[in-house]
Amino acid sequence: MSFAPPKGVPDYVPPRSGRLLAVRDAMVAPLRLAGYGYLELPAFEETALFSRGVGETTDVVSKEMFTFTDRGERSLTLRPEGTVGAVRAVLAAGLERGALPVKLWYAGPMFRYEQPQSGRQRQFTQVGAEAMGTDDPALDAELVALADQAYRALGLTSLVLHLATLGDPEDRAGYSERLRQWLTPRVGGLDAETDRRIEKNPLRVLDDKRPEVRTATAGAPLLTDGIGTAAKAHHDAVRQHLTDLGVPFVDDPRLVRGLDYYRRTTFEFVHPLLGAQSTVGAGGRYDGLSQVIGGPPLPGVGWALGVDRTLLALEAEAVVAATPPSTAVFFVPLGATAKARAVALVGELRRGGTSADLAYGDRGMKGAMKAADRSGATHAVVLGDRDLEAGVAQVKDLRDGSQTAVTLDTLVDHLEAQR
Ligand code: ATP
Ligand code: MG
Repeated sequence: MSFAPPKGVPDYVPPRSGRLLAVRDAMVAPLRLAGYGYLELPAFEETALFSRGVGETTDVVSKEMFTFTDRGERSLTLRPEGTVGAVRAVLAAGLERGALPVKLWYAGPMFRYEQPQSGRQRQFTQVGAEAMGTDDPALDAELVALADQAYRALGLTSLVLHLATLGDPEDRAGYSERLRQWLTPRVGGLDAETDRRIEKNPLRVLDDKRPEVRTATAGAPLLTDGIGTAAKAHHDAVRQHLTDLGVPFVDDPRLVRGLDYYRRTTFEFVHPLLGAQSTVGAGGRYDGLSQVIGGPPLPGVGWALGVDRTLLALEAEAVVAATPPSTAVFFVPLGATAKARAVALVGELRRGGTSADLAYGDRGMKGAMKAADRSGATHAVVLGDRDLEAGVAQVKDLRDGSQTAVTLDTLVDHLEAQR
């Protein structure tokens, strides 16, 4: 019998899993320096939280949710994203009544029932950051800058930051109507899905990546032309802060985000080498979301960065993300007495903070030295029975091949001093 993971669910094994972890860590590092606290979110929540919070007309809710009924007949859904859960958790803990803004980060798997392809999976990992409690445009800029910092630290050079504003809800409502009227004679009747979008949420038509739809909608009216004074001032401030922060961006008035809760600022980090799945991270402001899920008014802004897609971007740019720390010292015991001694010495080194390993499986010299080379260790310690009798070990520097006999009493100190 053999099992494979479910469709669209990836396995990551070493060495690639180490690179995935390095991407995740690099995304979190700037957040720690900026006062963001850790949020551990439930992996599944009440279905209604997502359908209400993310929005019934979104692709995520209408066709991508992993929903199931538990043994108590409750409808539950594997989290497709983290923002709605983050707002719910903040409200549940009453954090909105404390010091503001509340700044949080989370990381972990998200689940969406999508057609699997390169960069599009049914389980994928996001690192997310959310800041709630103020509509200060400097906070929008802070978040964008922190994502930019993470991508730079990873060594990505071809990413382009697209920035837009969706205005306030009233701007969006007026624009939706204008857009509906513009779209109907042009792409109405194209297919059932497009008709549904024109009727329910015309902005989504502009998010259609099909070339024929892109061409047909190229001259569509832009939301930016009709946004109110407050939203306009907010957007101008975000742009100015980003410029002051040295974060390059392009204005993209056609940027449409898939989730309904966005207001004002929206942005996407796009990588040109990734084909159709080119957005590696995205976010925006969601000032109305708290009320949509039954909370008090609570402005917020945040992003989610795709860890899997960012790894693909690094691979496309041939940037090798920092690999996990390799073993520093590798023991090659030859014989039973030597092995017992090696096991104890490895334990001692590890307790002292030096990474160490040994050739398990009682292999001969040749096989064990091969294992030492593969481990990436800088030093191999060869322990033979004759050496043991003489009270020494042979320490081989694997980088230059030089070898020194070191007395066993001083071996740990000697190895620690090599680091
Ligand atoms: P797309 O337009 O590609 O479907 P989205 O707008 O649905 O993206 P968001 O909800 O904004 O994506 O999620 C933020 C990030 O999470 C994306 O930019 C992407 O990097 C990643 N992501 C989203 N869906 C998937 C998926 N199915 N597989 C892998 N990564 C994903
Ligand atoms: Mg999507």
